[in-house]
Amino acid sequence: MPVLELESVHVYYGPIHALRGVSLTVERGEIVTLLGANGAGKTTTLRSISGLIRPARGRIALEGRNIVGLPPHEIVKLGVGHVPEGRRIFPRLSVEENLALGAFTITDRQEIRRRLEEVLQLFPRLAERRRQQGGTLSGGEQQMLAIGRALMMQPRIMLLDEPSMGLAPVLVESIFEVIQRLNQRGTTILLVEQNARMALEVAHRGYVLETGSIVLEGPAAELAHDPKVQAAYLGAR
Ligand code: ATP
Repeated sequence: MPVLELESVHVYYGPIHALRGVSLTVERGEIVTLLGANGAGKTTTLRSISGLIRPARGRIALEGRNIVGLPPHEIVKLGVGHVPEGRRIFPRLSVEENLALGAFTITDRQEIRRRLEEVLQLFPRLAERRRQQGGTLSGGEQQMLAIGRALMMQPRIMLLDEPSMGLAPVLVESIFEVIQRLNQRGTTILLVEQNARMALEVAHRGYVLETGSIVLEGPAAELAHDPKVQAAYLGAR
């Protein structure tokens, strides 16, 4: 059974038909990337999965259970970790406090501690800065903090929305390394990226979204060689 399955999901913003029957699956252990131009509906897809937007029609199943209509905090509890575009960490709280907030449904302080140490082990740069205010971190470190915060819930699947956005090239590399490392540790990932080249390098499979519809799908290596993908997303002529 796939970890995540979308079947003919339709979303409207008033008169705008933003998702027009999107179907996709993410299997356990995969990195799946969702590519598409600005406005194609990538963020809308992730927000529908997290319950931030309610689809008008269609089914979204997490390990076989339909989650459409559940409130976002329930969907987090069921194991969907969402790292939104633009990071949204709490700038005045320390790195540790930001992480602890990620475990908002856990009441056992010992357990929160344990998870915090585990996440800090994954991100040595955050460990060095654990008592620093989040707002003083670099863009790349803030992105790692946002990812670390979502990991505190030990999600079944992580939704990453444009994790490389606004980062210097060297930091883009390190974010993609983090994504691969997480995946090698067993985290299943649905990755939305403008940086199609890097996304197709780390992903197992991919989907291409155009104006609310999936127009192409396949193994990442095949998509990377597809002339249409190359022309539209990889800057080839
Ligand atoms: P981007 O990379 O620019 O975020 P995207 O592929 O994530 O693009 P969405 O943000 O999901 O695209 O937007 C899909 C469509 O829905 C676009 O036409 C957009 O203008 C529209 N849209 C998104 N959010 C809203 C909203 N809150 N109200 C009205 N229309 C919206």
